[in-house]
Amino acid sequence: MTSNATHDDLAPIRESVRGLCVNFPGEYWRRLDRERAYPEEFVAALTKAGFLAALIPEEYGGSGLTMTAAAAIMEEIQASGCNGAACHAQMYTMGTLLQHGGTEQKKRYLPAIARGELRLQAFGVTEPTSGTDTLSLRTTAVRDGDHYVVNGQKIWTSRAEHSDLMLLLARTTPREQAQSRTAGLTVFLVDMRTAKNKGLTIRPIRTMMNHATTEVFFENLRVPAEAVIGKEGEGFRYILSGMNAERILIAAECIGDAKWFIQKATAYAGERVVFGRPIGQNQGVQFPIARAYIGMRAAELMVREAAALYEAGRDCGAEANMAKHLAAEASWAAADMCVQTHGGFGFAEEFDIERKFRETRLYTVAPISTNLVLSYIAEHVLGLPRSY
Ligand SMILES: Cc1cc2nc3c(=O)[nH]c(=O)nc-3n(C[C@H](O)[C@H](O)[C@H](O)COP(=O)(O)OP(=O)(O)OC[C@H]3O[C@@H](n4cnc5c(N)ncnc54)[C@H](O)[C@@H]3O)c2cc1C
Repeated sequence: MTSNATHDDLAPIRESVRGLCVNFPGEYWRRLDRERAYPEEFVAALTKAGFLAALIPEEYGGSGLTMTAAAAIMEEIQASGCNGAACHAQMYTMGTLLQHGGTEQKKRYLPAIARGELRLQAFGVTEPTSGTDTLSLRTTAVRDGDHYVVNGQKIWTSRAEHSDLMLLLARTTPREQAQSRTAGLTVFLVDMRTAKNKGLTIRPIRTMMNHATTEVFFENLRVPAEAVIGKEGEGFRYILSGMNAERILIAAECIGDAKWFIQKATAYAGERVVFGRPIGQNQGVQFPIARAYIGMRAAELMVREAAALYEAGRDCGAEANMAKHLAAEASWAAADMCVQTHGGFGFAEEFDIERKFRETRLYTVAPISTNLVLSYIAEHVLGLPRSY
């Protein structure tokens, strides 16, 4: 694909990610997909190369890279046909610890995460009954001496079985007693290694793609008070501030997916001969590919804008949401186009298209669904009345 889209000063990082991903070709992902197995070797290789510690500052043993660089890493993983969903959470959940954690917590956890000795891949926010309405979550953490006792349930806690730590959002003050609508929720850094079988139970959920997602049950789980990140009751604000990073990084993954689909479709359209000529000679085949490319490039600009604002420390809520929305729509449109361009072969496992198609479908729903992005823009950018 001829494009200036990757001609930035991050070329060495991009090349290095691509060099690593070459060792994890389609057969690797197909086998894991069939077995619904976790890509241990891939995640270990990314960790060893330091890519998952991109956003951890150098003083804590990370690479101290910018959000733009981190986004480039995630994009290249997807554009190489791999799946960063197996490990992307480490990059953004770590931000909550970095920005709001105490000095002792940071010293204790960040260097170990950077070295790959500890995995922080689990993010426990969503619950079965609250859905997108995070403020109505029901998991409680009640203070008992120098511990909190946690009861409740999370759902879609991805990678919980492959993580040592979980960032958990729980209610510490009953909603009716909280000082404001958003107060009373607290973030905990739960050490799952000690919690398993002592009040923490993880059950895998099988999904349409290989995502290692789970539901997690808390039954009188005792969590030490020093596991609280920042101030008790302020957790919703901390989680919200981390969500911009999550949206930007996942948007970058969608850009990578879109590039992969466009590259596959372009190559196939050039070589597949039907009625005595390459199918790509027909405008009916060319135009959807060109349209997908335009959509991807436009979304990519918004991802860059959001990342630049983020790293300049400026408010990027609108841009992060718009980037995630545009990129998720662009990758899904490219996925659909790629299947259509391949005709029947788009459905064959060995082409990897149907797998990537299933994988990229997630991102108009999670980590935030399209309607909720639109509501955010309507309310916070356009000043329209809050709809929920
Ligand atoms: C594979 C997978 C992995 C995930 N990983 C994680 C994870 O690691 N950690 C975590 O905490 N969560 C995770 N999630 C949860 C994900 O963030 C939620 O699924 C997503 O935010 C949507 O919430 P919901 O499923 O509860 O949908 P709901 O909130 O029940 O919404 C259902 C539909 O209704 C629409 N809707 C709801 N309210 C409104 C409204 N007021 N106006 C208009 N439309 C509305 C939504 O847009 C959506 O389309 C994951 C989800 C999946 C499927």
